[in-house]
Amino acid sequence: KSFAELQLREELLRGLAAMNFRKPSKIQERALPLLLKNPPSNLIGQSQSGTGKTAAFTLNMLSRIDLSVKSPQCLVLAPTRELAKQIAGVVILMGGFLLDQGLVISEAIPQSVPRGQQLLGQIVVGTPGTTMDMIKRRQIDVRAMKVLTLDEADNMLDMQGMGDQCQRVKNLLPKTVQVVLFSATFPPEVLEFASRFAPKANELRL
Ligand code: AMP
Repeated sequence: KSFAELQLREELLRGLAAMNFRKPSKIQERALPLLLKNPPSNLIGQSQSGTGKTAAFTLNMLSRIDLSVKSPQCLVLAPTRELAKQIAGVVILMGGFLLDQGLVISEAIPQSVPRGQQLLGQIVVGTPGTTMDMIKRRQIDVRAMKVLTLDEADNMLDMQGMGDQCQRVKNLLPKTVQVVLFSATFPPEVLEFASRFAPKANELRL
């Protein structure tokens, strides 16, 4: 299968070509049809790093945002600031041809937004604690949120309190949000968390 056959918009195909992504990786080929289906359904995906999951969940977000609306519509939670920055970088590259049409990406990392200032843009990437604080301070308007993505769920659950923070963030979002959760491993506690966090999800094991 090609990316074009996955029904991605023209600007995203151009972004993929510019990044030299010639054909979908296995996880992209299997996850994207599930992710892009309407009405949206949740997804729990198993994926090691290096398999291309970042592009899979990024293409889903970039396909679902309404560029004429500037408020946050997609949120990615990642275990570390470094990973959050890396994901934001991929979103910018992949969405490069949507920047002219109003795509805005924001990193919810400490110091990135002065206190009292609203975070603008359709896609927000951050760590759970900081993101939760910013939502509580009304720096992130969650009313238009439609996709919540968790990356490296197993690593997040390894860190004290991070699972709870993810849950608290989710509780602040509209109930209709599409939940996408990726994890490299699924020991029982991750499995239990994932099925609670992303109910009725399609499951993808590679
Ligand atoms: P990830 O698993 O998302 O961390 O991606 C691992 C690496 O594979 C990254 O360097 C990506 O740029 C690259 N990559 C992901 N998908 C593709 C693709 N379809 N074609 C070529 N490279 C890819």
